[in-house]
Amino acid sequence: MRRHKTFRNADFCRYPWRQKEIMIEILWRDEFTCQLCGSHRHLQMHHIKPRSQGGDNRKDNLLTLCRECHCAVHHGNMPLKGMNILDR
Ligand SMILES: [Zn+2]
Ligand SMILES: [Zn+2]
Repeated sequence: MRRHKTFRNADFCRYPWRQKEIMIEILWRDEFTCQLCGSHRHLQMHHIKPRSQGGDNRKDNLLTLCRECHCAVHHGNMPLKGMNILDR
């Protein structure tokens, strides 16, 4: 699989192939930046509304987070609420 150089810091490995296209769109939207800490490394996709709760792969349900922030969000250490990320 070929990867563009620009995407070398994005952590694609845990996502199935058909999600990668939308990941790239979200990465461009979020300017390849973690939306919590501003990091450009180890970027991952976060589902704002988990798929288990009816969330889907639409752009407004996806957020670019670095590995560390993603982990923190999932462990409840870094709530997304009140950040108005979606109001941009
Ligand atoms: Zn981060
Ligand atoms: Zn997540």
